[in-house]
Amino acid sequence: MDDFPKTEANYAPLTPVQFLRRAAAVHGRKTAIVHGELRRSYAEFGARARALASALRKAGIRRGDRVSVMLPNIPEMLEAHFGVPGAGAVLNAVNTRLDPAAVAFIVSHAESRILIVDREYEAAMRAASEARPDLIVIMVEDDAGGASGSDYERFLETGDPGEDFLDPLDEWDSIALNYTSGTTGDPKGVLYHHRGACLNAFGNAMTFGLSTETSYLWTLPMFHCNGWSYPWAVTAAGGTHVCLRRIEPRKVFDLIAEERVTHLCAAPVVLTMLQHAPASDRRSFVHGPVRIATGGAAPPSAVIDGMERLGFSVTHLYGMTECFGPSTVCVPQEDWADLPLSERAALMARQGVNLVTLAEQTVLDAEDRPVPADGRTLGELCLRGNTVMKGYFRNPKATAETLRGGKLRTGDLAVLHPDGYVEIKDRAKDVIITGGENVSSLEVEEILYRHPAVMEAAVVARPDPKWGETPCAFVTLKPGIENVDAAEVIAFCRGHLAGFKIPRSVVFGDLPKTSTGKIRKYVLRERARELDATAAS
Ligand code: ADP
Repeated sequence: MDDFPKTEANYAPLTPVQFLRRAAAVHGRKTAIVHGELRRSYAEFGARARALASALRKAGIRRGDRVSVMLPNIPEMLEAHFGVPGAGAVLNAVNTRLDPAAVAFIVSHAESRILIVDREYEAAMRAASEARPDLIVIMVEDDAGGASGSDYERFLETGDPGEDFLDPLDEWDSIALNYTSGTTGDPKGVLYHHRGACLNAFGNAMTFGLSTETSYLWTLPMFHCNGWSYPWAVTAAGGTHVCLRRIEPRKVFDLIAEERVTHLCAAPVVLTMLQHAPASDRRSFVHGPVRIATGGAAPPSAVIDGMERLGFSVTHLYGMTECFGPSTVCVPQEDWADLPLSERAALMARQGVNLVTLAEQTVLDAEDRPVPADGRTLGELCLRGNTVMKGYFRNPKATAETLRGGKLRTGDLAVLHPDGYVEIKDRAKDVIITGGENVSSLEVEEILYRHPAVMEAAVVARPDPKWGETPCAFVTLKPGIENVDAAEVIAFCRGHLAGFKIPRSVVFGDLPKTSTGKIRKYVLRERARELDATAAS
């Protein structure tokens, strides 16, 4: 009964590279990529990515070799997502905001053979070349598509667009190497397999409703978990990629209107930025609902609420680099539609349930037992399935620790609600412990965001001789508002939070953020530690 062999007829390794092979054939004349004035069809996108794969092989790249790229969200970055794995190589997309030393560390740790880099990051490129003298550097000049004559264009000319992509020998072969931000030591290199990349692209395409009608705006950096797998997902669907080199609210609104954008992804801080953009930067759109997926940090319900009021339909995703980006989604239930927006937004601010392509999500207590579904008991969110990383490159110890007991340990503390939805209360390292009680910084932030004058807020622990730690709030007020003081913010919290959770100190000003849209809490923790009694109220 079960002695059928796998043959070429009935078994092909899963890989997202296949999506472009198919899209180029099926949607050949359709616009695949928009970048400023430039429009490229799927036939052209396919030909250029194949030329890249072929050129890489001619330059000596062999299966498993690493190719680093440091590029904004421009067409070359999309080409790399197919051309590099299509040459059998592993794509190492480097965070474009990193300083030269961090880039040099990554390119050396990854043992990259080639670096494809935008002219804007020349300083990082120089540091990488010094750290790895044999590194071949290919410079990209982006002038919104008219980039003839660059290193990259000359390099493509050495390749043969008629040569097909290589398929992986095994779907477990590595496709990408993505470094974590390394806030707690050197960055770790997360290795992805073709199988997971393919499945996570399917899971996301399905969750977010992508189709041939999709016009996808690239607000999310493609270097972040391979753009949450959307370079592959949008191509699988045969949608259109709308490139965006740099996020400016005005540009985002213009592109949404002009390119009839249907879908975009962005971290919550970008949503806040769009909501509070000056009226002169905003544009209304009438071409239908615009779906925006957010994640990467917890979106306060006030932010979801505000986006829906602007006419966006919000999808809330959760994930981390170690699981190819988005892995859970807050699936809206039918009866939520009848709820008042603020109540619906509160339900949607939860991280939700596993994507259809993730085997399991559980919340485990300190003894590795599932917590009760009571919405109260805190445990660690753990994930399991085909969209979990292979491990950390050249770091068996951290790999074993993070994947121990057959689960990906996320380091996020969550509760399980009676309806089976998880809600993250904090990253383990961000919890505030005051007088022996745990305070979830996200819970306090959720309340602060509801204050009508507050645009952004982050709460961290401030050392305290009596309580150990107390909550310290850092707050940015909405543009034009100045007459709100700490006492008022604290009084507002008193109406919504238990006494020990109320911030003891409130500091006003801009919040430091990472390039992937997270508030840099460790920077704020340092600031809180250094606050003297007079600076905080
Ligand atoms: P880094 O670890 O470098 O910050 P990641 O993108 O891997 O980069 O970060 C993953 C973390 O981001 C998660 O472990 C979680 O703490 C946080 N996160 C991501 N999405 C959400 C979300 N929807 N809600 C709350 N936290 C989130």
